[in-house]
Amino acid sequence: MLVAQSVYYYPFTSAFQNNCNSVLLDGPEKILIDPGHKFNWPKLSQMIAKDGIDPSSIKLVLYTHCHPDHMEAGEILETDYGAVQAMSPEEKVFYDGPGLSFFSWMGLDIPKGHIGRTVAEGRLELSDKVLDIYLTPGHSPGSICLHWPEVGVLVTGDLVFARGWGRTDFEGGDSKAIVESITRMSKLADVSTLLCGHGPAVMGETRVADNFRHVLAML
Ligand SMILES: [Zn+2]
Repeated sequence: MLVAQSVYYYPFTSAFQNNCNSVLLDGPEKILIDPGHKFNWPKLSQMIAKDGIDPSSIKLVLYTHCHPDHMEAGEILETDYGAVQAMSPEEKVFYDGPGLSFFSWMGLDIPKGHIGRTVAEGRLELSDKVLDIYLTPGHSPGSICLHWPEVGVLVTGDLVFARGWGRTDFEGGDSKAIVESITRMSKLADVSTLLCGHGPAVMGETRVADNFRHVLAML
């Protein structure tokens, strides 16, 4: 579903689907953020096609963090469409170390694809859009948030949710860092759509600000 100019959001609400929300940034250079589990890819690719986007035109798959429920399907896009998988350099260090054990821990195969690109904090300039990448550790050491100021969208992965925040008790989690990261993101201007890794989106500038206030008050 289109939630902002050139931004498609694919939330998963069924209790039977343990999957994350996915976001697609459209335009000549398409980016799929957090494609989710492999088992769900046929459904997600159908939904993308229904929105008029050819899934094979996705050439960059960006992960907010390396947990399997966000990234397992990425290797399918690499194998089938030649897409490049990317995460932050800090998250890649974690992924190459203890992060990979999450896959076997969840009973999943170790990914066969590879991380072909790292995206560090700072401005990510593509031919058709300019994105701001923020390193926001807490849920994992190299978690990132992605801000597209032009359309008012902030993609937070598992940093912050509607009335909640990501757990910090997994390996690589840091309860102090998550407060600092959420505080930092709460200060961004130009956020009218908050797209979280799980649960509903938060729509509207006032609601987004309220949500940050509520979450920070609870932390
Ligand atoms: Zn996670």
